[in-house]
Amino acid sequence: MPARHSWEIPLLVIVVIVTVLAYLVALLLLFTGNAGQLTLVLVFAPLIVYLIRGMNYAGQRVNGVKMSPTQFPEGYRMVQEAAARFGMAKVPDAYVVLGNGQINAFASGHGFRRFVVVYSDLFEIGGAARDPDALAFIIGHEVGHIAAGHVSYWRQLGMFAGSYVPILGSSLIRAQEYTADNHGFCNRPHGAPAAMQTLAGGKYLNALVGFDEMADRADQEKGFFVWIVNAMASHPVLTWRMWALRDRSRHGKLFWRPSAPPRPMVAPPFGGYQPPAGYGTPQGFGQTGYGTTPGYGTTPGYGPPQGYGAPPESGDTTTYYEYRGPN
Ligand SMILES: [Zn+2]
Repeated sequence: MPARHSWEIPLLVIVVIVTVLAYLVALLLLFTGNAGQLTLVLVFAPLIVYLIRGMNYAGQRVNGVKMSPTQFPEGYRMVQEAAARFGMAKVPDAYVVLGNGQINAFASGHGFRRFVVVYSDLFEIGGAARDPDALAFIIGHEVGHIAAGHVSYWRQLGMFAGSYVPILGSSLIRAQEYTADNHGFCNRPHGAPAAMQTLAGGKYLNALVGFDEMADRADQEKGFFVWIVNAMASHPVLTWRMWALRDRSRHGKLFWRPSAPPRPMVAPPFGGYQPPAGYGTPQGFGQTGYGTTPGYGTTPGYGPPQGYGAPPESGDTTTYYEYRGPN
């Protein structure tokens, strides 16, 4: 099973405690006759979450194109493969909805049912995926949310109030996103760069985005405002997210920007380094970025680095935005 982000469960515990306390305070206010609008929202949270999830699911059932062996069979197969890979007893339903240029995907559930929704822009040209690897990564990410239990009713009820606490709530959501990215990576490792390139540059200009060049900037962009933008975001900021998908040796960074491990200190030979004949610039010295650091850009199963510099074959690929509602 793909790794769950190390901060996910500790943050979940804190958020659930905050939510339970909020419910208790709301009940107290209700019984003492001091109930305001917010109090009522909290008291009726179980019903509100239930209704929103039911409506969302019904919306897909009546308006969505249900993936099947005959409708969007490529996506249908990807969902089945991802569910099998994650050892899920039941394959989630999957729907395609009209994207209208907007690119998005999300996972949710209602009762014991689980489903994935993919916007139609991820499929074009006769229903074929714009970039099959990116789509497989994205579907793996969304099915991963389900496999990791992120879309269960009880979990969402338990996070109802705590997820609105600044920084705390968003940090838990970011940890969940890293967990889902681990699932996407497990499902289709070489789809990760293409998916991230599209998040950065859009479905037409994704090929112009240098995955390594952008990921390297996670270490270079510093300061308080960088920190706060990430801390308040529902998804890890893109450069950090790319870094985490490139460096598979550790969990993605939640609070502090990632940085490359220091290069090993090796005493230079007497007289300094002598480049081999015909060897223009000494590699790894005086070269910026970490493209040549072992473990970066050479992660096994991560596709050849030329896939980053050169445009993907299809020229087009996909992007997605994670739905972040109470669903
Ligand atoms: Zn997600």
